[in-house]
Amino acid sequence: MKSLTTVQEMNLIMYELDDRVFPYQGGESDTVANMALIAETLLRLPKNVRERVLVEVYFIALSDVGEYGRVCFRSGEPTATVFLSFVSMEKWSKKRKMNLIAHEIAHFILGHEMRPADDVKRKKHINSRDLERDLELMKSRFRDRERQADDLCEKWKFGRCYSQFQLAHLWKD
Ligand SMILES: [Zn+2]
Repeated sequence: MKSLTTVQEMNLIMYELDDRVFPYQGGESDTVANMALIAETLLRLPKNVRERVLVEVYFIALSDVGEYGRVCFRSGEPTATVFLSFVSMEKWSKKRKMNLIAHEIAHFILGHEMRPADDVKRKKHINSRDLERDLELMKSRFRDRERQADDLCEKWKFGRCYSQFQLAHLWKD
């Protein structure tokens, strides 16, 4: 069989993404453009990664400004949802947006469940003596995960989302 051209491959990915990319509560209108950006990112990923994403991941385009992206796994299931705020990335270059998408996919591949920040938010309601120690542990775990995701992105020939300086100063109160 003749191998597919890039355009054909891109069309195939777009076709598969059609059931996998959704706007959040109808707020994001530019779904096709967002889908094309995700498709182009997927095209540059190793084939096995791309295939896994197209079976196990759903993408939600957030309509509000705030966090750029995050991954949530469904409990007890191998599937995950990647939330992306294209609105927040509006002024970014295409390259930087694709780095961010690849970064979130890297979190998925590495099985990084939720941001430890969520654990901390939950824990704030609990009056625990160990809270401070836990907090430090979570912060360092958070930095480790961000570094690991960026390392994997670099392996995939994408750019990093965090500089060494940013990593070192991540989550400093
Ligand atoms: Zn990250």
